[in-house]
Amino acid sequence: MDTTSKEIYPIVEIFHSIQGEGFWVGTNALFIRLAGCDVQCSWCDQKETWPIKGSSVFYLSCEELTQKVLSFTQSIVVVTGGEPLMHNLYPLTNALKNAGLKVHLETSGAHSFSGDFDWVTFSPKTFKAPNPSIYAKADELKVIVANEQDLKWGEEIARNIPSNTFRYLQSEWNSPASIQVIVEYILRHPQWRLSLQSHKFLNIP
Ligand code: SF4
Repeated sequence: MDTTSKEIYPIVEIFHSIQGEGFWVGTNALFIRLAGCDVQCSWCDQKETWPIKGSSVFYLSCEELTQKVLSFTQSIVVVTGGEPLMHNLYPLTNALKNAGLKVHLETSGAHSFSGDFDWVTFSPKTFKAPNPSIYAKADELKVIVANEQDLKWGEEIARNIPSNTFRYLQSEWNSPASIQVIVEYILRHPQWRLSLQSHKFLNIP
């Protein structure tokens, strides 16, 4: 496996904000949004990330990315997408961790796992099955719920992950009625927690 720092990554955006979802909600975070996604969820709100090449994509080496990240004041670096596991993430995480940074991953798990992360958010999607390599890596499972069928599917996925992985249910933004479905489910299944997209309520990136 290539763990050198010669890799060049296609990037849609790098932005400094507050982690809006899941376990680390409210935390000062620097987001690296990598280009490329072949999961293609119908309700995706990041469709501009789907092409790996294009006018909205720019390219940085590990060294350039690390220097860019170090110019911000952040608690954590969140590698997201798109689907970041379409890329070999070992060189990127090696470079960021060698610079003393804490690195998190947000992924659907649809490709083989790569990289050395301090935290992995596994958010599987019904549109493309997870690669089994993600299961043991997941620190939190975040299931997006549009309807009751998604709850059943989420329980099937949850059978594969470690027992101490945090389990979150998050409403699909365009299906607001799902919040009530989630609340009623959590009241009967306390191993699950509610995750809200707080950045959307707050209207921040
Ligand atoms: Fe969009 Fe994420 Fe689904 Fe890819 S995995 S289509 S980026 S929601």
